[in-house]
Amino acid sequence: MMATTHVFAALAAITPVAIVVPEFATPLAVGAILGGLAPDFDLLFEHRRTFHFPVAGVPVAVGGITLAGLAPTAVTVAFAAFTIGAWLHAVSDAAGGGPEMDPWNDPSNRAVYDHVRGQWLRPRRWIRYDGAPEDTAIAIALSFPVLVVFDGWISAVVAAGIVVSLGYTLVRRRLVGWLPDWLE
Ligand SMILES: [Zn+2]
Repeated sequence: MMATTHVFAALAAITPVAIVVPEFATPLAVGAILGGLAPDFDLLFEHRRTFHFPVAGVPVAVGGITLAGLAPTAVTVAFAAFTIGAWLHAVSDAAGGGPEMDPWNDPSNRAVYDHVRGQWLRPRRWIRYDGAPEDTAIAIALSFPVLVVFDGWISAVVAAGIVVSLGYTLVRRRLVGWLPDWLE
């Protein structure tokens, strides 16, 4: 899935909480955006493994939510939103394909690594590849509640993300041909 889909999923997850406690809307959104992006920084290491915790992320998120519930401050609330966003990202990567750029030619059986069982989860391919039309449709659907509830820079970031997603979807399959050989 696209980075924007992950970020919008994280934002959509915390949106109901932001309605109940609007005073924490900004730390919730900041935590969710960073949490939705963070796992893919393992592109620098072993992608879909180093920072992706589809199973181990559950107790971490439960801990983050519990801490924010017991001691709600901007920092604990942002941390809870971060753990939720990062877990959602890791688990939803299993709904797509593998990390390869051209899964329509060279599908892999490794979607995301489960550190608890010590094995790779297989790709479900409900979303065929990042930037597939169904990926963009989900991203846009997830952005609606966020755009309704949030305003200011958060809704501006989401609107910009929609534009980027649409552009990426249009060129996605051609991107593979433009990549230098060493990157493929
Ligand atoms: Zn990922």
